[in-house]
Amino acid sequence: MSKLSVAKFGGTSVANFDAMTLCANIVTTDPNTRVVVLSASAGVTNYLVELANGCDKTRRTEILEAVKTIQYNIIDKLQEQAQIRAEIDTLLNHITALAESASLATSDALTDELISHGEMMSTKIFTQLCVERGYPAVWVDVRDIVATDSQYGKAVPNDEKTKSQADAILKPLLSAGKVAITQGFIGRNDEGKTTTLGRGGSDYSAALLAEVLNADDVLIWTDVPGIYTTDPRVVPNAQRIDTMAFNEAAEMATFGAKVLHPATLLPAVRSNIPVYVGSSKAPEQGGTWVTRDPQPRPTFRAIALRRNQTLLTLSSLSMLHAKGFLAKVFTILAKHNISVDVITTSEVSIAVTLDKTGSASSGADMLSQALLDELNEHCHVQVENDLALVAIIGNNLHTQAGVAKQLFHHLEGFNIRLISYGASTNNVCTLVKNQEADDIVRALHAGLFE
Ligand code: ASP
Ligand code: MG
Repeated sequence: MSKLSVAKFGGTSVANFDAMTLCANIVTTDPNTRVVVLSASAGVTNYLVELANGCDKTRRTEILEAVKTIQYNIIDKLQEQAQIRAEIDTLLNHITALAESASLATSDALTDELISHGEMMSTKIFTQLCVERGYPAVWVDVRDIVATDSQYGKAVPNDEKTKSQADAILKPLLSAGKVAITQGFIGRNDEGKTTTLGRGGSDYSAALLAEVLNADDVLIWTDVPGIYTTDPRVVPNAQRIDTMAFNEAAEMATFGAKVLHPATLLPAVRSNIPVYVGSSKAPEQGGTWVTRDPQPRPTFRAIALRRNQTLLTLSSLSMLHAKGFLAKVFTILAKHNISVDVITTSEVSIAVTLDKTGSASSGADMLSQALLDELNEHCHVQVENDLALVAIIGNNLHTQAGVAKQLFHHLEGFNIRLISYGASTNNVCTLVKNQEADDIVRALHAGLFE
């Protein structure tokens, strides 16, 4: 029996005709790739988010023109243009109407409806491109498959309903030898309205479809040939990691590596589906396999960097010997939908950094005045910006002697604002100044990997 791979191509992979052609080559040369999940062409989602947030007529016209140009530039190079151009025009007209509504009054439901159009357009065009190569590609509206709740901007899929819809709609196509081309990022709620899974959600869509279809693997095609020991733009000597474990990759993604959406791994991890990350521009360069238990498992695997972190320090004299202060503070944070990343505590204060990875598709600011006011009723609040998280990722970090000595040795000479060590076997986290972050990553990389 042949294998089933679900391939996902990111925004840069489908940014223009040449990039899309490389994706088509990958799909058509791999007989196992029979479900293809696409992001919107690079830049399109950002434009649509701007429209959804409401803007004046001049800006609306400008954005519409820019989005149209991105899509038309691809269509211009197709063999059969009339029908696909008409379909894209229809979608562009929807965008125009929705953007006008949004400029009068925005809503989360309207935002999701509007920004879903990026994936609708990229998939329509890519299907046509594959068909022109004689490939049995069929366009599938993923909203008929991925069922979600109604949390617009960060909707949560209903796995069971998604599975039964995939069985009913996708399975027969696959059995008939077709290759399904469909959208990442979007779904539909019980009311029949379009939802989105949060920015970068296409990876999650691909993993979810792989799970419900019992696929053999998920192939994440992006613009880098795999996961590196650190960001090669910061450290040109960074090395590609050939295999790594789910929990190491999840830590990396959570702490800043751009290649995988943190939640991507969720359906893959729970169903033990290997995930591959490679470059659609250079597939011959190979990539990284992320699996449950690859061997070997080195002590130090990688260094992740996440810039622009906010640190909240909450102090209360009544915390001295008091019970329940943490519970109170975390209740307030939860109420405002904030999840925290790193925590340290002392007798009278706690310091937390905010996790921005789960923020809504619209990118609304997390630290609202309402939140600060409510916290202020219970404690003194200090906000520090311009910080960066540098996370050292590895294995059994907290059970081995000498790990701290090594790290501190390489960190000599830098001011470390906060450290979190011991909660996770897979990471040690440090919070540092934004402007020192690159140097710190270089020092650590040189010391641990070069
Ligand atoms: N197009 C969406 C975004 O830019 C989803 C994705 O690319 O994964 O966030
Ligand atoms: Mg993306």
